[in-house]
Amino acid sequence: VSNRLDFFTESIIRKMTRIANRYGAINLSQGFPDFDPPEELLKALKKVGDEGPHQYSITWGAQNFREALAKKQSKYMDIPIDPDTQIVVTCGSTEAMMAAMMTACKPGDKVIVFSPFYENYVADTILAGAEPIYVPLHPPTFHFDKEELKKAFEQNPKALILCNPSNPTGKVFTREELEFIAELTVQYDVFVITDEVYEHIVFEPHEHIYFASLPGMFERTISCSSLSKTYSITGWRLGYVIGPSEVIENVRKVHDFLTVGAAAPLQEAAVTALHFSDEYYKDLRKLYTEKKNLFLKGLDELGLKYTEPQGAYYVLVDISEFGAPDDTVFCEWMAKEVGVAAVPGSSFFKEDVNHLIRFHFAKKTDTLKEALKRLSTLR
Ligand code: GLN
Repeated sequence: VSNRLDFFTESIIRKMTRIANRYGAINLSQGFPDFDPPEELLKALKKVGDEGPHQYSITWGAQNFREALAKKQSKYMDIPIDPDTQIVVTCGSTEAMMAAMMTACKPGDKVIVFSPFYENYVADTILAGAEPIYVPLHPPTFHFDKEELKKAFEQNPKALILCNPSNPTGKVFTREELEFIAELTVQYDVFVITDEVYEHIVFEPHEHIYFASLPGMFERTISCSSLSKTYSITGWRLGYVIGPSEVIENVRKVHDFLTVGAAAPLQEAAVTALHFSDEYYKDLRKLYTEKKNLFLKGLDELGLKYTEPQGAYYVLVDISEFGAPDDTVFCEWMAKEVGVAAVPGSSFFKEDVNHLIRFHFAKKTDTLKEALKRLSTLR
């Protein structure tokens, strides 16, 4: 096998789902909802079953999907987006990011990755033949040190990966932080590849600022996101890349050879969601704010320590008090004996951190309550 595979392990997130299934544990590891997508989407899905399309769409995405997406994203990102030249529809943001990395980097290039990171970024970097430069986000606030970031830029990277709102920390980058990154990208001529799949899951008073919307940044930002989290359709695998047309032309090429295209019937059904009114996004925020509050209140009652998320649907909980030999052993034990699955924090950190575990709270109220009840046996 290729020696590239020596540099990353299998996904621990996906492995924890298999472990959760094996022990019948409540799966608060891999982040996906246990509730249905909006009714309108279910209806649209039935309709495509009868009426199609059932064959390929255009490689870079069905025309009506790109048009609806351009309209919605132009509004939220506050940037004009051309559906014909500035969008590629992909199989989830997983493919979007892989295609973005392969477009931006040539073998031997360096890529800045904040640590902790969503585990795909390192695998993506290595699969693109590039090499990560890690910049720590310091707990408990997960801020970066300006000098440390500057030093990373001095190593002549080709790109920086920015997950905002951030998985697994729940951090939402401030305008000041983003502007600091933006200045460095200009000074050192670096691309920013974003992962903004939690763009609509932000808790007040925090606000999500799209990196591409900062002055002068559209030209050097490859924005990746997906419909998975916003419309609770993680299994539909619909993502996209938005960027300047010169870059998108190349992303299209990579995407074509990676997957040919995202599923045509699912694109057709999902157009319905892209036409939802502002109300939908407000309600989504409200829904996740309630879930976050419920889960954090439960953690408080159990006396567990955590960093309060500002966005996304994860929380990192400190398990040092349990004196477990390591977080991976703890998570396996917890799935089996407590009946709740979480992800060991070490799978997100470059540094030797093994006292944190990640829960997600994208679950029905009853599921969260039952999980908290089970977790109380930790006490
Ligand atoms: N983003 C989700 C998580 O971190 C999982 C996404 C995936 O497994 N593709 O749990």
